[in-house]
Amino acid sequence: VTFRVTVRPVDAGARASALVCLQDTSAVQRAGQIRRDFVANVSHELRTPLTALIGFIETLRGPARNDPKGQERFLSIMEREAHRMNRLVGDLLSLSRVEAEERVRPTEPVDPAALIQSCLHGLAPLAAEAGVTLRADLPEAPVRIPADPDQLRQVLTNLCENAIKYGGRGCVVTVTLTGPDYEPRLRALGVRIAVRDTGPGIDPHHIPRLTERFYRVDDHRSREMGGTGLGLAIVKHIVNRHRGWLRIDSTPGEGSVFTLILPADPAEAGGSQGQRGLS
Ligand code: ADP
Repeated sequence: VTFRVTVRPVDAGARASALVCLQDTSAVQRAGQIRRDFVANVSHELRTPLTALIGFIETLRGPARNDPKGQERFLSIMEREAHRMNRLVGDLLSLSRVEAEERVRPTEPVDPAALIQSCLHGLAPLAAEAGVTLRADLPEAPVRIPADPDQLRQVLTNLCENAIKYGGRGCVVTVTLTGPDYEPRLRALGVRIAVRDTGPGIDPHHIPRLTERFYRVDDHRSREMGGTGLGLAIVKHIVNRHRGWLRIDSTPGEGSVFTLILPADPAEAGGSQGQRGLS
């Protein structure tokens, strides 16, 4: 705990008096430290691909000048590094946008089942390439929740991409939507979306830190997979904005489940379809 102490003389007639103020500045100090760590992390993350790019440019100008095969290989690596920087800058922008909007509660009536289907459709080529099976388990009755459709899509995409990336060949990824109709206990809370994978799982001591910026269980594997280390931090901010919860359960050797609970406010439900799902 850090305190700032201020002492002010007080004119109290004949007796000499002073006003002593103790101000707890721990939160300010902590916020400053978090900001400094973030800037240091971002600089480090940008410098790594930049150093590689500068090195390869020098090689292309020098030793590899007359080596077309080598040039092609170096250009591919440079392209990969440039894409990595582009992803990092994109995620940093997403993070700052989501943080700026965090107090504004989204209100658009969104059909999460349709979003899940469209996300899985978009991820089918990535899953096929990785040898991963994608499944959806959706309720028949339509459901509507107040949400920001683009941000909700980003959450689903991040969670499913992680499940595909870290699950590996042979893994099965199942996205389950449970509407309030089907789970009376959830009526007060909202809908539940669970992204389950049968991958290697995560050691329990990592779980509380997974949504921190740049926290990775296996640094090398995350980078190899093209990860920026910001995906779950973005997910957490979007879920906060929706006044929801993110729960992470994992068993090493069996797989992981990332569960979102998003409030379904019946007053926000759109149209007759939404009425059916939420009433
Ligand atoms: P990254 O860009 O590294 O994927 P994220 O914030 O999305 O960053 O995830 C943080 C870390 O959590 C990852 O580096 C990975 O170690 C771990 N992780 C996330 N999802 C899974 C999963 N489904 N299975 C195993 N590990 C996971």
